[in-house]
Amino acid sequence: MSLPVIQDSSATQEDPLDLMDEIDALKQERDVTILAHFYVDGEIQDIADFTGDSLKLARDATRVTTSGILFAGVHFMGESTKIMNPEKRVLIPDLQAGCSLAESCPPDQLAAFQQQLRDQGRDFHTVAYINTSAAVKSLVDWIVTSGNAREIIDRVPADKEILFVPDQHLGRYLMEVTGRKMILWPGSCMVHEVFSIQDLIRMKKRNPDSIVMAHPECPQNILELTDVIGGTEKMRQYVLQTEQPTTFLVATEGSMIHPLEKAAPQHTYIPVPGIMASSGETCACNRCPHMSLNTLQKVRDCLRNNGPEIEWKDYFATAREVLDRSLLQ
Ligand code: SF4
Repeated sequence: MSLPVIQDSSATQEDPLDLMDEIDALKQERDVTILAHFYVDGEIQDIADFTGDSLKLARDATRVTTSGILFAGVHFMGESTKIMNPEKRVLIPDLQAGCSLAESCPPDQLAAFQQQLRDQGRDFHTVAYINTSAAVKSLVDWIVTSGNAREIIDRVPADKEILFVPDQHLGRYLMEVTGRKMILWPGSCMVHEVFSIQDLIRMKKRNPDSIVMAHPECPQNILELTDVIGGTEKMRQYVLQTEQPTTFLVATEGSMIHPLEKAAPQHTYIPVPGIMASSGETCACNRCPHMSLNTLQKVRDCLRNNGPEIEWKDYFATAREVLDRSLLQ
């Protein structure tokens, strides 16, 4: 799979410090709280009121007291925030910031597959990773994040089959840790799929005392060489609890290095490079091209213009029931 190069035609030479000051003033003026995912640029994380992974931010969003929320992340995260906070204005800096993983599971195809299973007399619950559209969330029984997946899967009655969507790698990993057999949807994340196994082996040889940390969205061959498998919040907690200066080889989106360095600066963090399918060359393609669409300038423009905004859709109400029982109870 090759990674698309997304040109950002709006990029300018505006001074980041001026932009940060302007954002700070606009935030007060517009009564907006800024939430930023760990995968957006470090400078956006620095001006955010809350940073974190999907689960933490979904919970933080319900505690926000301002009338508006700006979510620096990707579209499905903005949708989840709106679903949990229907009365608030939810702004996102770029409506085009999608997610290859969410897009690998279109709602009509999921509904058709569920019907096919029902027609075969299969008795199952559908468990969806949070990286799915709101339309998909409205079709499932449970939503999980990498942080709570095990706990939620334990809540699925033992006599039910599990259809897990959309990430096949996370699903395979969860089958191992929970011992539950699952029907896996064949989706994957374009960023976590391309880590170079050869480079990881080489880096490990050069740094024999290092600890490999990888996101469970990575393929099995990467996870087999990993010491700490976990979502971004688990990685952050792990480095916080490690006192001795240590070298970590990190296989997840490249911007994650920023919160790790902030949380535990005594360590050395080396991002595991990706490999381009088109040429086989090692590249810095561990940056998510969708997350990268978030820029300081777009955050400022979004506050100035009061948009783009996530609009409420009818099916958000059903998705909300699923999110409520999965993430908040
Ligand atoms: S890193 Fe992967 S899963 Fe995360 S937003 Fe980007 S494409 Fe989606």
